[in-house]
Parts: sequence; C-alpha cells; structure tokens
Amino acid sequence: MINIIFSEEYKNHDTGNHPESIKRIEVVNNLIKEDYSNHNLIEPSTADKKLISLVHDIEYVNYIFDSIPTSGFNYFDPDTIASPNSLNSYLLAVGGSVDAVKKIIEDNNKKNVYFCAHRPPGHHVEKNKAMGFGVFNNVAISAEYAIRSGKFEKILIVDFDVHHGNGTQHIFENSKNIFYASSHQYPFYPGTGSEIETGTGNIFNCPLTAGCDSKTFRSLFENKIINKINNNFDLIYFSAGFDAHKLDPLASINLENEDFYWVTKIVLENLANNVPIISVLEGGYDMKGLLHGLNNHLKALIEYSNE
Ligand SMILES: [Zn+2]
Repeated sequence: MINIIFSEEYKNHDTGNHPESIKRIEVVNNLIKEDYSNHNLIEPSTADKKLISLVHDIEYVNYIFDSIPTSGFNYFDPDTIASPNSLNSYLLAVGGSVDAVKKIIEDNNKKNVYFCAHRPPGHHVEKNKAMGFGVFNNVAISAEYAIRSGKFEKILIVDFDVHHGNGTQHIFENSKNIFYASSHQYPFYPGTGSEIETGTGNIFNCPLTAGCDSKTFRSLFENKIINKINNNFDLIYFSAGFDAHKLDPLASINLENEDFYWVTKIVLENLANNVPIISVLEGGYDMKGLLHGLNNHLKALIEYSNE
C-alpha cells in the first residue's frame, strides 16, 4: 500500500486557457479515486511562510502572497499565472510535500511510499523567481526540510520530467547531502541541464535529443544516471513529470506508457535500499499521456512498497 496526498482544492487554481490546466488534476484525481482508493488517501496541509522560506527568501514569499489578484489573472512571467484562488494550491502543494517527510519521520523512516498529486509543478522555480508554471519549489522545500530535520543524511531527487529542473539543480548545486539527477530534452526550455553541470559531484544530467525514443532513453538513463551514482541514500524523491510521453504537446521525446514503469523501477531497484520514497507530480500536458504515464509510475511504486 502507498500513501497518496491529494486534494480537490487544486481544481480552484484557474489558469484559463493554459497547458497547466485544471483538467490535469481532474484526470489525476479521477484515476486515484477510481483505481487507487484502496490506498491511504490523505489531504495535504497548508504551508506557512516560515516553511516556504526554508528555500525561498521571505521577501520573495511576501511578494507572491501580495501578487494574488482579486479578479482576473496576474502573470509572474508569460507562462506563470495566478488567479484569485491560486494561493491555496501553492500552499497545499508545499504543505503536502512536507507532510510526507513529517509522516515518514513519525514512522521512524520506514520504507513508506508517498505520491503527492498536486499542482502547479515546482522544479523550475528558482530561489527567488517564479518560473515554468510554478511559484514555489515543492520538492526543494520538502528535501531541505528533510535534511534540516537531522533524520536524513543523503537524499536523491530523480527528475524524469521532460524539462530540466533548473530551480532544483541551482538550489542544491553546492549541497553535500542532496543529489539531483535529471533526464530531459536538451537543448530545450529552460536552457540548463547539460552534462558538464555537475555541481559538487552531486548533479547528474542526462540530456535527450528531440525525437529520442524508448530504447535510446533507457540506454542513456542507465549510462548517465543509474551507473554513475554510487551512494547510499536514505530518502529518494521523484520529480514525476509525464511530458516526455510521445503524445505530449509541449516537447518532442517519444516515451511509451511502459517507460514510466521502467524508469521508476530501475531507480528503485538500483538506488533505493528499503528507504522511504516521496514522488511529487510535476508536468504532463497530454491527458492520455499523463493518465497512462502516472498509472505506470504508481504501479512500480506499489510493487516497491509491497516488496
Ligand atoms: Zn515539464
């Protein structure tokens, strides 16, 4: 059994005619309610400013709180939009990501698995810059909370979203405790993610050229991520984006449904030694790609939790 943190509240973060739409969370929530209701379904809690400022400066946090419009839309950048009810989603997405760590600590770091079904995504968000549909870096805040708790010594974040998680990489590129590994289309938005970006030896980038198919993806992911990382981690995150699916309208990587099972499985089999897992939803903009990609990812997470 796994734990799924989800909320209907994410349907109130209205972005209008935008790929990061309410429709996405409807697809995800329907899948969870129809096929995963036998798992432990949990409501996220609301993050406060102090929690968010573990990663983002308080001036930036205040700027986001003060930029929520009372009507219509406000644009942090051309891609990143707030509407009157967006703040609740921002705070639940951070709160839920941190709730998973708190629950793992309460359970003495046992091999528990959490999936956080939330929006907007956060891996593009820099320390003090909203970017790529998101305003707070959910995974980075959660991982920083975990390290500061003193209950974890080495954390790995595996990001298989089709875009490079520039925000997460930059936030942790000088860290000795938090490792970041990403496969992504390159060159592509947001521009970062080349193989020569290695941080303190804690960054592992696996660039994929446009048109990359399943076979090439698997071979590159094994060579540039799985075979290169030889540390023991006591907590593993997934930045789980499903926009490398062949149907996705925003990118040009041609992964099949089963590749999302494969990528989850190979990480868990090789890098997770009975440790807790937190997977956090990032992108995925074709509704079928999102549905089937997520379904395959969850299957591999459930198998791990049952082992
Ligand atoms: Zn993406």
